[in-house]
Amino acid sequence: MELNEIFEYLYHEKSIILTGAGISQSSGIPTFRCNENGIFNQSIDKNSNSTITSKRKGNGIKLKGKDLFDVSILQTNPEIFAQFINQLHTKIQTCKPSLTHKFIQNLIDNGKCIRNYTQNIDSLELNHCNNNIDKIIQLHGNINNLKCNKCNTIITSNWNNPINYKEIFANGIFPECPECLNFQKLRLLQGKRSKSFITGILKPDILLYGEFNHELTLNFINCFQKDLLQTPKILLIMGTSLKVYGIKNLIKEFKSKINQGKIILINKERLNNSIWNKLIDEQIIMETDEFVKKFNNWKEDLINHNSQYLNTPPSTPSIQKINNININNINSNTKRKLMITPESTPKKKVKPLNNDESPLNKNGRNILKQLKI
Ligand SMILES: [Zn+2]
Repeated sequence: MELNEIFEYLYHEKSIILTGAGISQSSGIPTFRCNENGIFNQSIDKNSNSTITSKRKGNGIKLKGKDLFDVSILQTNPEIFAQFINQLHTKIQTCKPSLTHKFIQNLIDNGKCIRNYTQNIDSLELNHCNNNIDKIIQLHGNINNLKCNKCNTIITSNWNNPINYKEIFANGIFPECPECLNFQKLRLLQGKRSKSFITGILKPDILLYGEFNHELTLNFINCFQKDLLQTPKILLIMGTSLKVYGIKNLIKEFKSKINQGKIILINKERLNNSIWNKLIDEQIIMETDEFVKKFNNWKEDLINHNSQYLNTPPSTPSIQKINNININNINSNTKRKLMITPESTPKKKVKPLNNDESPLNKNGRNILKQLKI
């Protein structure tokens, strides 16, 4: 497929978008596959009895990337995880959405993107989304929420309320759950023993490697099944190497249910696995922001072209007349040019045309002449 064909699909047809860490990189969020000295490297004391695969450096043990997101860290080095995740949360608060985030948001707002399934926990999609929040599914949770490991209470105050949780995490401690504490107080008032109740602790509501959240998985599978009923024409995968378990099933499901659908991957690295080669129709090796820039240029050309028709003087054939043409007799490029910009397209201020630029002398007139109108 040519890039322009993909743009046309995205502009005119319904899509489902699956995103990964690559779309947040230009926002300043590091991926753990890079940054030798970055946020995804933490030193711990050499006497620690860490069982995590680690790299020794100087007197300490160096935890890197994926190790910091492995569920085993909660048992072996919880204090390191608490401090690290607090640093990551702080970093995320300073990040702005990338071009790709905005592109997806526009498609959602214009009714073209049925749903954005994101593997990212940074929540940049939600932080800057004013409406249509239900169109974003966070497959691996949301770092801005805290969840109790006992009563499952979720605190959505971005670590601020009822107390400043960041200070507690910064000290390498997991805060106690306020709901559990209230429950315990109530029990004491009722004269029940406090020892038999263990207060839960709060951790960021994200899925770590090795963790499985049945509720989260069930939610997104149900949602995906509903979305397929809307017969999207494209599954656009952006900024991910699809290494996370479970994603493959989602893509297979699309392939089997949507016969005419296209699966397109936009990523800076090619996936050479034979299974992906069978499932993915087209791989565009490109940064996702670069793809969006090209899409925006293409869209601007299209809008400018359509604007010429919309500003045609009364003596020329009207748009209504153009619509009466049997468009099956016109080649596909011409068809696109004849289409009126959908209502949902952002309005662009159009400069009045001078005589030289009049559509009478441009393609519109020629096309109409060829069609004997
Ligand atoms: Zn609790």
